[in-house]
Amino acid sequence: MESILTNRPALKQVLDAAAEVAGYLWEKGWAERNGGNLTINITEHVDEQMRAMPAISEVLPIGVTLPHLKGCYFYCKGAGKRMRDLARDPMCAGSIVRILDDCASYEIIADSPIVPTSELPSHLALQNYAIGCGCGYKATLHTHPIELVAMSHSKEWLDSEHLTQVLWSMIPETLGFAPLGIGVVPYALPSSTDLVAPTLSLIEKYDVVLWEKHGTVAIAPHIMEAFDQTDVLNKAATIYMTARNFGFLPEGMTPEAVQEIRKAFNLPDHR
Ligand SMILES: [Zn+2]
Repeated sequence: MESILTNRPALKQVLDAAAEVAGYLWEKGWAERNGGNLTINITEHVDEQMRAMPAISEVLPIGVTLPHLKGCYFYCKGAGKRMRDLARDPMCAGSIVRILDDCASYEIIADSPIVPTSELPSHLALQNYAIGCGCGYKATLHTHPIELVAMSHSKEWLDSEHLTQVLWSMIPETLGFAPLGIGVVPYALPSSTDLVAPTLSLIEKYDVVLWEKHGTVAIAPHIMEAFDQTDVLNKAATIYMTARNFGFLPEGMTPEAVQEIRKAFNLPDHR
């Protein structure tokens, strides 16, 4: 069977980047078994032929109604699929779905009827937010970065402002590439809709959201940027942990030094 990616170089390029990121997630140990998820809005690459493609699944409910998604198309990782397999072939570990006119259901159009993960409602809610705010964000990434998740096991680090300030103070680039910081959502059952509202309220303010004792969620124009923001923040967490392992509390850059970087590089203000 011919893949939907055949003769669609722009679409293939988007999914090649998803595959590259999936490989990094596996290499970093952030994607055990089928852990993590990614969703990419590919509507801009959809041609007439794709619009005319028949569904290869039943009509499936999203679980929520998302008004901005009418007629949109997404690449979604499949339920139970592994990132390390997605790294080799995105269409073997995920599928392309079309959102139907009721904005509450979807159908799969290619390449095979791989049903998206149970995290689809939260990922699509983020995509709905991205379209609504006009920010041009196309990619959502959920992964399990070890050091950030470990920090979320201590009450001290559940305070978003405190966690953000300490991570920024570890290395100048953290502020440069994650100028809005990281927000923490209290623990809720994975895949539950209880995570959706708090995640949405924090993603407006922060670059990355940390789900307590679980993992991160990032949204960005491209999947590589969603990965980079997560990686930059987790690097700061790793430096903090390494200093603690050396037996001391890291001093951290002073608040004045952090503010100096914000000014010098004209970074957006923390909201
Ligand atoms: Zn997870």
